[in-house]
Amino acid sequence: MIAAKNQTHPAKMDNVFAQKVTEVKHYTDRLFKFRMTRPENFRFRSGEFVMIGLPDADKPVFRAYSIASPFWDEELEFFSIKVPGGPLTEHLQKIRPGDTVLMRKKATGTLVLDALIPGRRLFLLATGTGIAPFASLIRDPEIYEKFAQIILIQTTRNIAELGYGKELLENLRHDPLIGEFADKLCFYPMTTREKSPHMGRITEAMLSGRFFADTGLAPIDKENDRMMICGSQAMLKDCAAMARHFGLEEGANNAPASFVVEKAFVD
Ligand SMILES: Cc1cc2nc3c(=O)[nH]c(=O)nc-3n(C[C@H](O)[C@H](O)[C@H](O)COP(=O)(O)OP(=O)(O)OC[C@H]3O[C@@H](n4cnc5c(N)ncnc54)[C@H](O)[C@@H]3O)c2cc1C
Repeated sequence: MIAAKNQTHPAKMDNVFAQKVTEVKHYTDRLFKFRMTRPENFRFRSGEFVMIGLPDADKPVFRAYSIASPFWDEELEFFSIKVPGGPLTEHLQKIRPGDTVLMRKKATGTLVLDALIPGRRLFLLATGTGIAPFASLIRDPEIYEKFAQIILIQTTRNIAELGYGKELLENLRHDPLIGEFADKLCFYPMTTREKSPHMGRITEAMLSGRFFADTGLAPIDKENDRMMICGSQAMLKDCAAMARHFGLEEGANNAPASFVVEKAFVD
């Protein structure tokens, strides 16, 4: 249990929900997911992020977290890194069901369907925990109404780190609400360090044409293809340059276009 050393004073909690952890699952020594109760009046768009903290200090440390569950889910799910000595995750990785997690009330972000103009295929490019906003989006029926095909590409260091994504895809197939759309979703897991069927970086695989040869998918067509990108600053830079190379234009909530990016963390 996380001991509440100095409970945050209720007067300071106006902008914060205090929620109960319902489930924790560890995938590797670097990655875990947790689920928690959802405040009744909390609304968000699939793909957005919120600020998360723990009630373990006078001034809790809050960090941005993409909500990995879709807008319709009764609970909230998060997929987290464990940073050795990280101000939040060194404690967050120890949470157990029944513990309290704090969440600021406002959700925001650019990885939302409204930030893209209509298209036929949607490419979701992620490294590591960058899959979290896409875990939300691929469980939202609206994505399948707006796009004929969704292609999720996740790159991690090793095969074990792909565990969350693989589990997500497996569960999606059996989900009564979205299982019927599973055939519209293509998952292409990649590793950079451990040997696996698809090794290397997303940009290299797409720019060399290897990805298209492997999957049998047609090359990028700027009129019909859209992209969402979530990863480290370096990955965003490389993938955004690739998207522009393919003729796509960067969009935002107030100016939808053909691709959008968001940091999975700040370096
Ligand atoms: C918009 C946005 C959304 C985010 N969504 C998520 C999410 O869904 N899941 C999540 O785990 N983190 C997410 N992060 C990162 C998160 O805010 C924290 O940085 C992370 O939880 C570590 O917190 P910390 O206080 O332990 O360490 P910090 O002091 O925040 O980070 C220490 C260092 O660890 C590294 N690091 C931090 N986060 C990650 C990560 N996710 N993957 C790899 N290396 C990392 C960086 O080098 C960073 O400088 C997001 C960040 C942003 C800006």
